[in-house]
Amino acid sequence: MPPHSLRHVIKVTTGQDVYHCRECQLCNLDSTEEMDVPLTTIIQMVMFDDEEVLTCRTVWSDYVLSQAFHACKRGLNLQSILLALRTEAKLRGVR
Ligand code: SF4
Repeated sequence: MPPHSLRHVIKVTTGQDVYHCRECQLCNLDSTEEMDVPLTTIIQMVMFDDEEVLTCRTVWSDYVLSQAFHACKRGLNLQSILLALRTEAKLRGVR
């Protein structure tokens, strides 16, 4: 059986729907080597069910994780979404 979509996984595990993202890009942190794609793109990749998001350095960066809780100016908790993506990566064995 194919895995659920990443949007579904995030919805079930965090109670948040990434479709609420307005692509405003206000969550983008200052560039760091630990971040290969901006947070806005992470959310877009989840929307499009792009499994490559699970191996992005951004998802696995503890620095980004520490900054993510308040990063979204429209109420999404990006920290919990990143943690859910890490868990899903482990479940799928794609780390
Ligand atoms: S700040 Fe929130 S709504 Fe805006 S792009 Fe980032 S995740 Fe989406």
